[in-house]
Parts: sequence; structure tokens; C-alpha cells
Amino acid sequence: MKIFKFGGASLQNYSRIQLVMDILQTTPHRPLVVVVSAMGKTTNALEKVVEYGYHQQVDLALQMLDDIVARHVEIVHEIFPDGNVHLMQQIQAQADLIRNMLTDSCTYSYDAWYDQVVSTGEILSSLIISACMQQLHMPHSWIDARTIIHTDARYREAELNWTQTRQAITEKLIPMLQQTGCVLTQGFIGRAPDGSTTTLGREGSDYTAAILGNILNAESVTIWKDVPGLQNADPKLIPNTRTIPEISYREVIEMAYYGAQVIHPRTIQPLQQKNIPLLVKCFLDKQLPGTRIHQQIPDEPLPPIIVWKKNQVWVEFTTRDFSFVTEHRISKLYDVFHQLHIKINLMQNGAISFSCCMDHQPEKLNRLIHDLQHDFDIQYREGMELLTIRHPQNGWHQEMIRDYLVWVEQRSPNTLQMVIQHASQASIPVLPVH
Ligand code: ASP
Ligand code: MG
Repeated sequence: MKIFKFGGASLQNYSRIQLVMDILQTTPHRPLVVVVSAMGKTTNALEKVVEYGYHQQVDLALQMLDDIVARHVEIVHEIFPDGNVHLMQQIQAQADLIRNMLTDSCTYSYDAWYDQVVSTGEILSSLIISACMQQLHMPHSWIDARTIIHTDARYREAELNWTQTRQAITEKLIPMLQQTGCVLTQGFIGRAPDGSTTTLGREGSDYTAAILGNILNAESVTIWKDVPGLQNADPKLIPNTRTIPEISYREVIEMAYYGAQVIHPRTIQPLQQKNIPLLVKCFLDKQLPGTRIHQQIPDEPLPPIIVWKKNQVWVEFTTRDFSFVTEHRISKLYDVFHQLHIKINLMQNGAISFSCCMDHQPEKLNRLIHDLQHDFDIQYREGMELLTIRHPQNGWHQEMIRDYLVWVEQRSPNTLQMVIQHASQASIPVLPVH
């Protein structure tokens, strides 16, 4: 049993879909579960539909939706030059569901409404991929992930109900696998107890693949991407990156935690629990070895691994009455961060101050200030960046940060973290809040 997950980049146009089909046809391995996410940037486009729809800009929302449908229809025409009436009907039926929601009065909260709309991207792509497989006479069964992935009702970041999901997989998915040897389903989406649709967080298809891998005791989970494997840095930010052939779960969890966008952060845990290797392979060249993520620490020392998080803010809290920042105070501070769902990316504390680096989300920052300004003087600095280097080598990073000012540096034997600011931004003063 293997799990293959294909992301948006591998499904974004006809020629890439052909590569995916080639991979599926030349992989004799069965049983196989195929997990797909939405095609290309469909999820981003659907997010716009949600936004317009929610703010009563129905015409704009419908226009955006029509564009999305047109892009899918275009791909269908390429795959089926003689047409495919059934598939077209299925696509239109999905679009109609959203159209009706847009024109009926909406009773959903923003997040619930978001999940009902955005999940359509995965349904559409899986219907098209299924039709493609049919065209090539590849036996398979299509299943709506919302009949197997049971979650709570925390829309946009749903938590899995493992017991119900395990049961549904045993009752519904396994018999299909026994019948056709291959099951095709969607990543990212699930079902709340009331039957409405939920999602697992942006880029959550990796997590779906890991959940299925865990429950089905897969021999491996493969994520097919447009890069040759896991890189030691984001090639868009740093030149001369290297593909890492082999790496431990632990190291990848650290990378994801510090903000690398390689793999959805929740993906590793279900695989680690059952010691299932995660393979990152390149759909553009399936012969490339890719990366193997597993339990063991590889023999080869790892190269420095760089995670560069932009758009950070550095916030400093100083007690107004000059009282010490004790453990008790810190626990209260953390509580506020927790309530507001703010992740602290790096922290430092002094006698009467506590400082931290977090993603710059102005709305959340305002609420944080509102909740804490009674007890603290608060200052913050925008335009910051957080650079994390695992396995740093002496002085090796200096060139990279030549044009930056270093505000904070923290170092442990394995990790170097710096809060930095580009020199061109450095004239921006600390903004006092009263
Ligand atoms: N389509 C979803 C997204 O773009 C889920 C995924 O790609 O994993 O976030
Ligand atoms: Mg994706």
C-alpha cells in the first residue's frame, strides 16, 4: 500500500496532468491511494470568491467563479477534444452549489462559509483526474474525502476525529481498494459532525496523505512536487540550494516549525507514529531520487538548512510599574497569545521586559496591544525578518545578511536564529503605543 499526493503545481495544466498520468501508469504498485489538491492557484481564486461573497459583492464573486470554472473547462477541452458531457455536468453542478450559496442569504460564519466554497477546488480537480484515468483505462474508485475524513467543526483549521475517520476508512475506502486496487480522493477537505465541509488549513493535502498513510499502514507516502526534493533553503530566496537526499522526521518538523513552506507542519506526526517514510519526488522528472524523510538520522552530515521568514514584527512589552517579568507574568502573557492564536516565533525576556518576534498580522497585533496595554508599555518594530539556520557553519551566513542589521541573535549548538532588518528599512522608528 502506497499513498501518492499530487499538489496544485502538478495539476495546473494539461501537459503537467499528462506527467501525472504517466507516473500513475508506470507505477505498477497496487494498492495505491491517490490524493489530489486543487489545480494550480484555484484555492487562492476561491478565497476571493469567499471574500466578495461575504461582503455582499455578489456580482464580483460570480464573475470570479465563472473565471475559475472557465479555466477548468479549458483543461477539460484539452484532455477530451471530443468533449465529455458527464464531466462538464459534474463541474457545472459544483459551480451551481456555490452560485446558490452566493445568491441565497448566507447563514454561515465567515470561516464556515470559506470552507464550503474553497473545498470545491479539490472536488473539481479530483473529478477531472478521475475522468483522465478513465480515459486511459486505469481502474480506480473515486471517493469524496468528506465521507471518510471526519473532523470537528473548527472551520479552516479542523482537528481530525481519528476514531470516526479510522472507522469510515475501514468501512468505505478499504473495500474500494480491494475492488479496484486504486482509490482517488481529495486532500485538505473533511466533514464536520453536522455534515458541513471543513478544511485542514492551507496546504493541508499533505496532512490528508499522512492521515491516510497512518490509518492504512502504508509502506510509504510520496509527495510529488515541482522541485527535485527537499532543498536546504527556498530557491526563490537563496541561490545554489541543494537537494537533501535523506533527512530525519525531527529535522523536517523543525524546518516546518520555523516557517519553511516545504511540507504542511502537521504531516510528519502521523507518519512518525507508524515509522512510515515520507518521500518527496519531482513530477517533472520522476527518475530523480528526491528526498527520503524517515526515523533514522542520516550518516551524512546535513548542510546548513535555512528558513527565512519575511514580514515579521518585533514587539517589546515593558511592565508599567517596573515589576519583574516573573514566570507568573509570562504565563499570563502566553495565555493572551494563545487566546488570539498568535504564534511566537522567537522570544527573549529581561528583568522588566518581554520581547518576541511574530508574523505581522496587523489586526491580531492591535488586539494583542489592546489586551495588554493596561499592564505594559508596548513598542513594536515592523519590517523585520526572522532567519533560522540549522547546522550553521562558522561565519558562513555573513554574506547572506550583508545588507541587514541584526537586532537579536540566539544560538544553540544546532540552531542559529536572528531577527534582522534590511538596511533600507532601518530608518523606521520604533512605534510607541499609548
Ligand atoms: N488546495 C489547498 C491549498 O492550496 C490545499 C493544498 O494545496 O494542500 O491550500
Ligand atoms: Mg497546494
